[in-house]
Amino acid sequence: MLNTKLKNASFIPLVLILLSACGGQELEPTRSKGPADLILTNGKIFVADEAFSIVDTLVVNNGLIVATGDSSLSEQFDADEEVDLGGKLVIPGFNDSHTHIRGQPQRYIELGEVTSIEEIQQLITAKIEEIGEGEWITGYGWSEDELDDGRRPLRPDLDAVAPNNPVILTRAGGHSAVTNSLALQLSEITLDTPQPAGGVIEVGEDGQLNGVIRERQNMVGRLVPDSTYGEIIASLEVNLNALLAKGITSITDASKTVDDYEMFEDLYQNNKLALPRSTLQFQWYDAAAINALNARVGEGSDFLKPGAIKVFADGGFTGPAAYTLEPYVDQGEYRGYLNMPEGVLINHLNQIHDAGYQMGIHAIGDAAIVLVVNTLADALERNPRDNHRHYLNHFSMRPPELTMELMAEHEIHITQQPNFTYTLEGRYAENLDGWRLQHNNPLRGPMDHGITVAISSDILPIGPLVGIYAAVTRKGMTGTIYGADEAITMEEAIRAYTALGAYLNFEEDKKGTLEEGKFADMVMLSEDLLSLDPERIMDVEVEKTWIGGSLVYESAAP
Ligand SMILES: [Zn+2]
Repeated sequence: MLNTKLKNASFIPLVLILLSACGGQELEPTRSKGPADLILTNGKIFVADEAFSIVDTLVVNNGLIVATGDSSLSEQFDADEEVDLGGKLVIPGFNDSHTHIRGQPQRYIELGEVTSIEEIQQLITAKIEEIGEGEWITGYGWSEDELDDGRRPLRPDLDAVAPNNPVILTRAGGHSAVTNSLALQLSEITLDTPQPAGGVIEVGEDGQLNGVIRERQNMVGRLVPDSTYGEIIASLEVNLNALLAKGITSITDASKTVDDYEMFEDLYQNNKLALPRSTLQFQWYDAAAINALNARVGEGSDFLKPGAIKVFADGGFTGPAAYTLEPYVDQGEYRGYLNMPEGVLINHLNQIHDAGYQMGIHAIGDAAIVLVVNTLADALERNPRDNHRHYLNHFSMRPPELTMELMAEHEIHITQQPNFTYTLEGRYAENLDGWRLQHNNPLRGPMDHGITVAISSDILPIGPLVGIYAAVTRKGMTGTIYGADEAITMEEAIRAYTALGAYLNFEEDKKGTLEEGKFADMVMLSEDLLSLDPERIMDVEVEKTWIGGSLVYESAAP
């Protein structure tokens, strides 16, 4: 609670400024009224409880929701601030229950959303202005599929804007990178350099190095200087703060280390920017360090806590490496593979279960899902544990009915990414067919079996409205509908992106719905998702985000 109060205190000036800007009004103090920090009224407030209740007014005190109901509540409380929602929709803050947020070196440029080579050049120019000439510039995430130019950025494109800074920009997926002339020169790579084993130094049609190195880009990357703790933590703060503009008030980061947790602790004790609440998952490589951390921090704080143990059962659809029951399309008998030998995986799952930890297990292919569920069911029969809340990350293929029945029976849950149906459409269509393709990222099926299915992003992309759009429409990027019978309703999708993520982290008594006693973590949206034409879902904007009743984001739009 101390943490919450400190956060509230640091946002008072912002709240006061916005109070006057939003036309909020202060009520005349009256002794008979209950105390309140904030009242939201005249809205459509979707509580996200099981009944999908909607209320008009919500009252916050000391960071918690203290009452919900009709507009007469306004008269029962003496509030510091009252916000007239003007009929707008308010829902609980999104809980991205499978994501990856990291700090980056100052030299780094994020390229995951660039749409042209010119935009890449502009980002490089801006970065040189920020860090100066001569410094290395790195970046990640470009893909020629997303660039209007319809081709890859090449050495001359980088040289044009960075003649005096070595540059290396890694393609999305990490299998190649483009470099500029200075980076090649510093790495002593010339036309005479022998081709590396397992990789390619590309030569263009003009007989010159085009700057692209495939698989062995570390020939250049190894020269990039290490980053400092200070710059990484500063970037982490900015990247976490940016989530508030997407309406995300809680995250579970699915791949962190105990060292990362200590950096997050440092950040949450010294942050200047508002941050969402974070839960971190660890891999079981260093059980002793995880045990020691848990002994030290217990259940953590309201803003930072350790989460489930992460296990990787199989791969994904890049490659593809997901482990499937039937062969992929046009790839012979190939069915992907497990991330470790089957016996090792089974031992690993049993060992973590027996150590008393909750598990979040990466399982994408239907064969991986079947194996993991059978193993968990056996472990739970051998060593029963109430309220274990083990869950599968992804669940991208629909397994046989028997597997879903076992999941329901043993309360094995899911956090899934319906946004994959939209953004990974091409990869699914290439590798899967028929029923398997139609039922990619199934929602209705597992939910109808009684399985708890939370929705999350895995940062592809991070915006929650893409996942909600795909969950409701089942459409890919091309507009093709995949398995309309797997669609869920808007109300179910919002609840899966809020309350059910909190449930996976044992926090359903604290957050995820807008009920009395919960954290006042809320977002106000530009449009009423509950009555909107589904085709317009991705146009909806987050207008305000509150954490613990403090306004932590407001859009610039009027
Ligand atoms: Zn992930």
